[in-house]
Amino acid sequence: MKQNANEISQNSQSGQVSQSSHPPLESRVRAARAIIERKELDALLLTGRPSNRYYAGFSGTTSLVLISSGLARIYVDGRYVLQAGEEAKGYEVVHASRPLERLLDDLAKLRVRRLGVEETQLDLATLRQIEAREPLAGIEVIAAGRALAEPRMRKDAGEIAAIRRAASIADQALARVLPLLKPGVTERQVAARLEYEMCLLGAEGSSFQTIVASGVRSALPHGVASEKALESGDAVVIDFGARYNGYCSDMTRTVFIEYAPQALRELYALVLEAQETCLAGIRAGITGVAGDRLARDVIERQGYGDAFDHSTGHSLGLEIHEAPRLSETCKDEIPAGVLMTVEPGIYIAGLGGIRIEDLVLVTTDGCENLTRSPKELLITG
Ligand code: ZN
Ligand code: ZN
Repeated sequence: MKQNANEISQNSQSGQVSQSSHPPLESRVRAARAIIERKELDALLLTGRPSNRYYAGFSGTTSLVLISSGLARIYVDGRYVLQAGEEAKGYEVVHASRPLERLLDDLAKLRVRRLGVEETQLDLATLRQIEAREPLAGIEVIAAGRALAEPRMRKDAGEIAAIRRAASIADQALARVLPLLKPGVTERQVAARLEYEMCLLGAEGSSFQTIVASGVRSALPHGVASEKALESGDAVVIDFGARYNGYCSDMTRTVFIEYAPQALRELYALVLEAQETCLAGIRAGITGVAGDRLARDVIERQGYGDAFDHSTGHSLGLEIHEAPRLSETCKDEIPAGVLMTVEPGIYIAGLGGIRIEDLVLVTTDGCENLTRSPKELLITG
């Protein structure tokens, strides 16, 4: 999945993250408390699903997490009490029919004056409720989302194992589906088979809405599968991923139906060269900008810079797009232990598009490619 080149880059300074047991909740709570200290907060309120899962281990869909220097609480309603008790090890589970009300009571009791929140995950209605609660009048609500994202950048052994498995499931599903690609089959049928095979192979589902974009639609970088039927000579961009144990994978292959027109063959070779140049140059310590340049330079040299208008890659984990990025705006250094996609593309309206995307684990001396599907130009049908 590609991302908008304008998305804001995030600081890549990494907190101490356990590399051993999973989920290492104790060290994650410690990391949250370090943020409380650094930003001089009284408490952190976590409202996002990914952060509730990361910091409290809770995989359900509705919960609130409150962390202060002295307490770690997860607030759930009756549907999730047992699950929170099993998953949120070390947390006090607060069972309330209206969890936010109870949490606000606790903020008042604790006399919280500076509350850190995830600015992209706190909705306006909740913010208004916090501000309107009488004893909390004048409370300072502080953006802590970037700080909370930092410990999530470098993955621990359990997280890497989950992502490796998700990537492997996607590879195997694609191998099963490629023989079905022929004229007359619709993009949606291809997407449905891919998602079905991923589930049969053990995935919880797909990590985002599957992109199958064929023919002139392949020039849409985010062309989700439509009812268009595949036609002879189409390039078909297939961008998809599996979710395993909460963690995402992401890969793209572009294949051709029955034959590959010469113009698209040339673009394919160029995108592949850009992608492999970038893969060969990625290592810990490179900045997001420099990593993006590795691929972009190859494409610009051939005059297609304007046709590559998204960033080269993004990190992922519990979310499909996480910091840091390989982009023209991410000046941060990429640390070892980060998962990163490498996905240059060229898109030409009226002709079609090519994208090739692998998922790699960044290491001190290079990267390990977790995506194993072949990349030679493939003609099916
Ligand atoms: Zn992708
Ligand atoms: Zn992607």
